[in-house]
Parts: sequence; C-alpha cells; structure tokens
Amino acid sequence: MAERKLGDLSAALIGLIGARGPLSRADAARLLKVSPARVTQATRTLVETGILTEVGTAPSEGGRPAILLDITTDRRRALGVKITPNHLAFSRVDLAGNADATTSVNLNTAAPDALERIVAIVADEMHNGDGELLGIGLAFPGSLDESGGLVTSAILGWHRVPLPDMLVHATGLPVFLENDVNALAIAARLYEDSLAEDFALVTIGIGIGCAFTMGTRVYRGAHGGAGELGHTLADPDGALCVCGLRGCLETLIADDALTARAVRDGILPAGGTKDQLNAAAAAGDERALELFRWAGEQLGRALASLVHVIDPSLLVVSGEGVDVWSFWEPGFSPALRAHLPRHRRDLRIVVRDWGEDTWARGAAALVFASPFDRVGSSTSRSQVSSLLHEGA
Ligand SMILES: [Zn+2]
Repeated sequence: MAERKLGDLSAALIGLIGARGPLSRADAARLLKVSPARVTQATRTLVETGILTEVGTAPSEGGRPAILLDITTDRRRALGVKITPNHLAFSRVDLAGNADATTSVNLNTAAPDALERIVAIVADEMHNGDGELLGIGLAFPGSLDESGGLVTSAILGWHRVPLPDMLVHATGLPVFLENDVNALAIAARLYEDSLAEDFALVTIGIGIGCAFTMGTRVYRGAHGGAGELGHTLADPDGALCVCGLRGCLETLIADDALTARAVRDGILPAGGTKDQLNAAAAAGDERALELFRWAGEQLGRALASLVHVIDPSLLVVSGEGVDVWSFWEPGFSPALRAHLPRHRRDLRIVVRDWGEDTWARGAAALVFASPFDRVGSSTSRSQVSSLLHEGA
C-alpha cells in the first residue's frame, strides 16, 4: 500500500493528543506505530503553525525529561454549521468540543439564491470571531452522492446541488458535509468514550433521523442513504410525505405531524404550534398526553424493527423533541419491548439532553474526525493508531 501522506500523520497527531492530553513525541510515535523521526518532522510543522504547543516536561526512561506537546485549543477551532429548511445555525467549536454561542440566520433553502447565500454567510463568518479555523463542517438533513460532491435533500428542496465545491472555492478551507444525524453519531464517537461500541442514534423533532455504527464506523450505505428511519413505512394509508412517498414514519410523529393531528383532534386551535402542544401536555391536558404516548408507541415499534435488523448494544434517543421525552416515554418503552424477543428486552437506552449547540457541535466534529473520515468512514480517536497503520 502507498505510504500515507504527512498530512494524515499530522491529523492523527492532533486527534491523538486531543483525545489523550499532552504527550511526548516518543509516546506519540509509539502509540501511532510510526518512527520518531516522522513524528518529529510532523510536529515541527504543527508547532510552527501554532496547532501544537510545548507545555512542559515529564520524566522519561532515558533520564532527560521529555517535552510534552498539547493542542493550542484557543487558537484552533472548527466552524460547525447546521442547515435546516428555514435557517442556518453555526458556532465555533474547539478541539475539546466546547462551542461558542450559536448564531442563527433565517434562510429559505428552497429559494433560488439559497446556495449563494449559504456560501456568503459561511465565508463571512469565517472572518469573524477569534482564532484560526481548521475547517468547516456542515450538517444537513439529506445525503451526499458517492463522490461526496453533490447534496440531495427532500426537506431542503435540493437535488444534487454542488454545495461542497462552492464552499471550498469560496473559503479555501477544508469543508466537510455530512447527513446531520451521522454528524451527531460522529461527534458522539469522538467525544464520548462510553459510546465506543455498536450503537444506534435516533433523533426526534422536525424530522425523525437515525444513524448507526457497523463495527467501529458510522454506516452510510451504498448511496449515503442509510438510516432514513423517518421514511420507513408506518401507515400505508397515511399522508403524503415531503419525500414523495406516503405514510412515512415522519408523517405520523415528526413535530409538524403531531401539531397537525392535535389541531385536527381539537387539542389545539387552528394555527396551533408544537410549543403549544408541549405546553398543553405539561399542563396535564389528557388528550395532549395521550397524543405523545401514541407517538412514543409508534417510535417504539419502529425502533424494535431497527433493533431486529442491526442488533445494536445501545440505543441513544436525542433531537430537539427530547425536551418532552417524559411524555413519549410511557408509550415508547412498552411498545419497544413488546416487539423485541425476550433476550433483547434489556437493551440499554440512553436519552441524551439536547442543547442549542448540539447540531453545530456535531457539524464541527466532522472537521476533527476528518483524518479518519477520509479513509472512508468515521471512527473514534482510539482508532487513530489502527487507521494510520492500515495505510502505512
Ligand atoms: Zn418520507
């Protein structure tokens, strides 16, 4: 196999030190299974460009104390951008996953000039704020084609649009685009050691999203379309979905669907909103609570099918909608367990709190995970060594 470029070793060093904390060059070489000379060469550039800093010394076997290297976190950041049908949300995130306050800009992604506006906003943001950017990560509800150059998303109104190239051209920075829920799974793998196992991540809210790992990698499928749980059939006679099919799970339990049903059932007045539905349930409105319980049941059944197919060791439930998870839960757990065989019913389920910065943080993780992404998929930093070795 061809030898890996030095650039990949630099990225692996950033990943390794970012995950483990300060390291000596000798330890980095040992952990990455490469020669100390190569590490010395790579770290020279990284120190010169301010990505790594010498932060002190530690005792070493040879007697002479070893110099420790650490990431210069305050200088090196990524811009994480989340694209939704009606706005862009972005923030700067450091290597440890700490995000600045999220900025939101209204934008209709189906408008004729939407791509140009996105590029202009991102390029503008690139020059705002402190610190140099390592790259830009964009998370969107949809999929990339096999080449990674064309974006398709029914909910955004895009079919094979060349957004990645436009952004690279405008910013000159490395740009990484990924399905939004995949980005969350990549962030989870990057930052949460407890999730370093086969897991499925499901989001509820505007849509119903899903990402899952196979082995150590987020699985994308042949066309980047894996995990479209929201578009699996839930009701053959159901409503028309934004994707053009009928009766998708999203047409039953995504935010708009629940709100429309609440209006139809007289729980909310005409023009009622999801926030009002949440408030009604919180105030103890029995019909609102029953609607959420029913939604939980639909989700539980769908996830039982997913568990049958991929057999994860852990289910993570997240997304904007988990703010009212306590109303979904009474329907969810019984339905999930009822559709699983006895020996799968103890499946671990984690409900992950949702913050305003979660999407942008996930998008930024695409940049930090990029050295691993380039070899075909994402993985945790603990895999740095084996990946580097694979190509060496
Ligand atoms: Zn659909």
